[in-house]
Amino acid sequence: MPDGAFARPVTVNMLIDGALVPGAARMEVINPATTEVIGTAPRCTQAELSQVMQAARAAYPGWAALDIEERRAAVSQIKPAIEAHADEIAAIQTAEQGKTLTAARGELASLTRFLARQATLELPIVVNEDTPERISTTYRVPLGVVAAISPWNFPVLLAWWKIVPALLAGNTVVLKPAPQTPLAALRIAELVAKLFPAGVLQVISGGDELGPWLTAHPEVDKISFTGSTATGRKVMEGAGASLKRLTLELGGNDPALVFDDVDPVAAATKVFWAAFANAGQICIASKRIYVQRAIYPAFRDALIAVAQQVKVGNGAEPDTMVGPIQNRTQFDRVTELLADCRSNGYDFAFQGAAPQGPGFFVPVTIIDNPPDSARIVREEQFGPVLPLMVFDTEDEVIARANDTEYGLAATIWTEDMERAARVSRRLEAGTVWINEAIYLSPDAAFGGRKQSGLGAEHGDDAILSVTEPQTVVMRRA
Ligand code: NAD
Repeated sequence: MPDGAFARPVTVNMLIDGALVPGAARMEVINPATTEVIGTAPRCTQAELSQVMQAARAAYPGWAALDIEERRAAVSQIKPAIEAHADEIAAIQTAEQGKTLTAARGELASLTRFLARQATLELPIVVNEDTPERISTTYRVPLGVVAAISPWNFPVLLAWWKIVPALLAGNTVVLKPAPQTPLAALRIAELVAKLFPAGVLQVISGGDELGPWLTAHPEVDKISFTGSTATGRKVMEGAGASLKRLTLELGGNDPALVFDDVDPVAAATKVFWAAFANAGQICIASKRIYVQRAIYPAFRDALIAVAQQVKVGNGAEPDTMVGPIQNRTQFDRVTELLADCRSNGYDFAFQGAAPQGPGFFVPVTIIDNPPDSARIVREEQFGPVLPLMVFDTEDEVIARANDTEYGLAATIWTEDMERAARVSRRLEAGTVWINEAIYLSPDAAFGGRKQSGLGAEHGDDAILSVTEPQTVVMRRA
C-alpha cells in the first residue's frame, strides 16, 4: 500500500519545554477515507498548558537576546529535518487529512520552499533622521510569546509556515494544529525538537477546548490564527482584554471571472482544479464561477468533461484525484448545501460518482446558474460542489463578485490584459490572480480583506507581523 510509509498506529508526542511529552490524556485521530482510527495524539490539559506558557515566557529573554544569525542557524535546520522524512510525513498527512499522496507531497514541497526563503529574512532597520542634532532609528523588536493556530485543510503548510519568521525575529512560539489533524504537525515537532533551547518552540495538541484556552491565556502576546471567519471573530473578541496582537487568515468565497475572449476548454481545466483541488477544501479555492454569456455553454460542457474524468476516493490509492471531506462536521455541512440545492430545484449540470461510506466522500458536483441569493453562492461551501453563473457585462460581474462579506482572493480569466488590470483593481480581494490560480509566494503579502482576515503573512509582513517598531532617538552632543 502506498500509505504504508509510517508505523501504525501513529503515536505522537507534544514538544513541551524541550521534552517530548505523551500527555496525561490522549485523543484518537481518524482517517476520513475509512473512519478507522490511525493513531492518537495528546489531549493537552490545562495544567500542561500552564507549563507550556511558563516555559515560553521563561525562554523568551534569552532567545530574543541572541544574535539573529544564531537564531537563523537553528531555524535553517527545520527544512532538512522535514525533507529527510518527507515520505513518512506525506503518508501521515494523507491518512489523517484525506488528500492524495501527490497533493500531500506537493504541500510539503510548498512548505520547504517557504522555509528556505523565510530563513533568509532580515529585521529591517530604518534611519528616520540623521542630522548634526540627532539620529533617529526605528528597529523591529519581537513581541514575546506567539500562539500559532492552524486548520485541518493544509495541516502541515499552514501550521509550519508561521514558525520561522516568528522565531527568527526573536519570539518564542506555541503551535497548536487542528484537533482533527494533529499527527503530521506533531511528527515534525519531534523531528526538530533538539534544534532549539527548551521553551523556544513548543507544539501542543488538544480538543476543541484548547484553542480558546490558548488564545485567552495572559502569557500570549500575539495570536497568528488561520481558520474560519466565525472562529476568527471569537479570537478577536478574546484578544481585547490584554490587547493581544493579531493576524487572522480567515474564510473566503472567492469568485472566478471568466471573460468570453478565452478558450473555454483550456480555461475550464484550470478553473476545475482551482475549485476542486483538495476536494474544494482550500481557503483560496475558486468557489463561485461567473462565465460571460457567449461562452457559457461551451465552458460548462468543458468543465463537465473534466469532471467526468475525475475519480473520487481514498487519497492513498494512486488513481484517486479527489479525496474525502476531512471530517464529519464539514461533510454534514456540504451534504446540507447539496440538499438545499435540490430542494430549491437548482439545475445539477453534473454530479459524479463517489464511494459510499464509511468515508466522508462527496461527489464532484456542478450547479448550473443558480440565483445569486442561493446558499451555494453566498456561503463558503469548502467542498466539491461548485456553482456556475452566467454574466453579461464587466460592471455587473464586478458588483456580483464583490457582493459578499468575504475578500480573500479572486481570479480573472481573459486575454485582454488592460481589462484584467482594470478589473483586478476593482475587486475587493487580498490577492487577485490573472490567468492562473492558487499561486502563493513567500515574497508576496497574503491576507484577506473585509471579513476574510486581518493583517497578512509573507512578503514584508512575514517580519512586520511578528515584530513591532521601536524608535530610538539619540540627541547628539
Ligand atoms: P476553525 O476556525 O474551525 O478552526 C481553526 C483552528 O482554530 C483549529 O485549530 C481549532 O481548533 C481552533 N479553534 C476553534 N475554536 C477556537 C476558539 N474559539 N479560539 C481559538 N481557537 C479555536 O476552521 P477549520 O474548520 O479548521 O478550517 C476551515 C476554515 O479555515 C475555512 O473557513 C477556510 O476558508 C479557512 N482557512 C483560511 C485560510 C487563510 O489563509 N485565509 C487558510 C486555510 C483555511
